[in-house]
Amino acid sequence: MQSRELSVEGWEKIVHFTDDDAGLNALISIHDGTLGPGCGGCRIFPYPDFEAGLEDVKRLSRGMTFKNAVGNIPFGGGKSVIFADPKKDKTPEMIKAFARAVDSLDGAYYTAEDSGVTEDDIALMQTVTKYAAGIGKDGIGGNPSPFTARGVWRGMQAAARHHYGAASLEGLRVAILGVGAVGMELARLLHEEGAKLIVADVFQPSLEKAEKEFGAEIMSPEDIIAADVDIFSPCALGGSINENTIDRLQAKIVAGAANNQLRTPNMDQALADRGVLYAPDYVINGMGVISVGLEILGQWTEDEIIRRTDGIGTQLTEIFTRAEKNNVPTGAVADELALEIIERGRKAA
Ligand code: NAD
Repeated sequence: MQSRELSVEGWEKIVHFTDDDAGLNALISIHDGTLGPGCGGCRIFPYPDFEAGLEDVKRLSRGMTFKNAVGNIPFGGGKSVIFADPKKDKTPEMIKAFARAVDSLDGAYYTAEDSGVTEDDIALMQTVTKYAAGIGKDGIGGNPSPFTARGVWRGMQAAARHHYGAASLEGLRVAILGVGAVGMELARLLHEEGAKLIVADVFQPSLEKAEKEFGAEIMSPEDIIAADVDIFSPCALGGSINENTIDRLQAKIVAGAANNQLRTPNMDQALADRGVLYAPDYVINGMGVISVGLEILGQWTEDEIIRRTDGIGTQLTEIFTRAEKNNVPTGAVADELALEIIERGRKAA
């Protein structure tokens, strides 16, 4: 295994690991460790080149600094990427080599699932390092996706209460873009509450499942942004709110699981200008990493998970209220909140 530390301004540590025998080419990035060791998932993706992977791991690890801060877990921002196609290139040797890379950082970074990494991969990593989390044992912890979905659901309820004065989501129309691990569980929770669903995905079997089990209406990924709904929920890839889509958006609430839903930061103000309430992505989708964090700390209990999941709704309500009072967009308020928490952590250190 070879490792080379890159010097990148604004990031605490970025290390490039390669192991030709194991087919590993990976980057581990720690953006800010003020609140604790870096914590965030590993993404396996066939990036077109090194720069694309580097940009992604920088952006994702910075996002984790903010997400972990507002999630009130004692972890800093960390993330990793492996340059590979998870469907074609992933091997046990590659996963174990990645675990050795994580281990070599001596606890400065904890890894977990992200796109392309499964619970089985984490289990394999755990045979090599104690710094991998996100699989359940004895009913404790486990795959973050269902926890993320519950947090998004609670956050959506808070947004509907705030914007529409709705006591519940019953009867509201919700469009979900991406019914994968999180989106499908969210669809189930919304269906049980009596919401009307419209879904879009590129994977036909998921659409069929949502239609059959939850009576969801199906739309194309291109058109769902313009669906006549109360809530738009991006749960696929980032960037769905952008200069080309924003004027087609009908919903007055954007609340979903995807990371980096706004392609550019100014979309935050643009949504506010159109009277759309935006639930900042890293606040509403934080429950998965909160569960992983509690698992690492040995503090994971059912009661704590319920308390934290409900807390996402409470925190969003505070953000919505502060945004209105100070006439600033909600994303900017979330950033302020995260920076305040990090600053308090810095002073306490
Ligand atoms: P996933 O891969 O299980 O699901 C994504 C779904 O989106 C899939 O069904 C896929 O077919 C669909 N999709 C992909 N490209 C699409 C496109 N162009 N148009 C329409 N549909 C498309 O991923 P997931 O774990 O459900 O995560 C969804 C989003 O939430 C991601 O942005 C992820 O980063 C974010 N997120 C996930 C978690 C978690 O706990 N899993 C936590 C925080 C944030």
